[in-house]
Amino acid sequence: MNKSIKISLLPGDGIGKEIAEESKKILNWIDKNTKLEIILQEDIVGGESIDKNNTPLTDKTLEKISETDAILLGAVGGPKWEILPFDKRPERGLLKIRKDLDLFANLRPATVLKPLINSSTLKPKVIKDLDILIIRELTSGIYFGEPRGVKKISENEKKGFNTLVYTTTEIERIGHIAFKTASTRSKKLCSIDKANVLESTELWRDVMTSISKNYPDVELSHMYVDNASMQLVRNPNQFDVIVTTNMFGDILSDCASMLTGSLGMLPSASIGKKTEGRCNAMYEPVHGSAPDIAGKNQANPLAMILSLAMMFKYTFSKEDIYSKINKAIISILDKGYRTKDIHSKNNKLVSTSEMGDLVIKELENEKI
Ligand code: NAD
Repeated sequence: MNKSIKISLLPGDGIGKEIAEESKKILNWIDKNTKLEIILQEDIVGGESIDKNNTPLTDKTLEKISETDAILLGAVGGPKWEILPFDKRPERGLLKIRKDLDLFANLRPATVLKPLINSSTLKPKVIKDLDILIIRELTSGIYFGEPRGVKKISENEKKGFNTLVYTTTEIERIGHIAFKTASTRSKKLCSIDKANVLESTELWRDVMTSISKNYPDVELSHMYVDNASMQLVRNPNQFDVIVTTNMFGDILSDCASMLTGSLGMLPSASIGKKTEGRCNAMYEPVHGSAPDIAGKNQANPLAMILSLAMMFKYTFSKEDIYSKINKAIISILDKGYRTKDIHSKNNKLVSTSEMGDLVIKELENEKI
């Protein structure tokens, strides 16, 4: 009997809509060619929702998507909405989803695919076979801590302040995800902090060390964030899984993503605690809505398609679908097909929709 799964598709704005069309082709293919029956529910978020509903995410949409098994998102935003006050902007829609569904673990793989090894600004020998995973705490830390604000303290002087706060429970839950993930990979976990200066990350280090006793097969190491940023560009292959705080993860994952050299190729997953009947995962490309190329059929749809692949691995435990999509993409790149962002001499330039069709063609070559 076919197993039915319910997925929310939120294309968003700009190229989000174009890459979502290609992801839909892949989802339809999976629906037709595997034992999974996919129920797709499409909704609006970001700028389009602001235009129609005066808010980047309506409560009704939030309720609807929270009843599905997983969310697949394109990207939101664009110059049209940049004049709005901060709390009304398209990106607030994403923050609302992350916060409401408590998606506290952000998984960002940085993988160098062989055919793209020359796309990075780093020497091929430094990034050869790179395959690391950064796990960033996403719903706490300095981005959410209180008190925060800007206060006038004298006639000519203001004070801007934020609070870096973590509780034991918050560190434990991200720690368990990191250790479990590391135990399915090379069993090496590096926890990154600034425990020599910041008390909250001293607690972070203590808690990581304490829960490591539950995972004797995983080797835990600690590193200060300043050293980690240097090591990431010096010798990134020394890492496998990295776990870190919200702000350090924000910075380090952008740095790691550029090791791969191609923004249009980077997927991500944001995952929370599994509660019966409530969505706990959102998958989305790392890039934004790319207004400069929107509507031109030029965008690279692979970051979103790779995010879709992660969804089958992490939410639906379908490792076979995950690896089949990844293999299909490597094969396409091996044959020299490239969208404009990763195109170079001697490659075959293809559009967004042609790239989507090529993925389907490769999947067709070997049915699951
Ligand atoms: P961006 O990621 O949209 O674009 C940066 C550069 O990379 C652009 O030159 C763009 O053309 C290129 N690019 C990005 N994705 C690509 C793809 N798939 N294929 C080919 N080229 C690609 O970042 P930005 O220009 O700083 O932001 C544009 C808008 O997106 C802003 O409104 C920003 O707030 C928003 N944004 C949204 C998200 C999100 O939805 N998660 C993330 C980042 C930025």
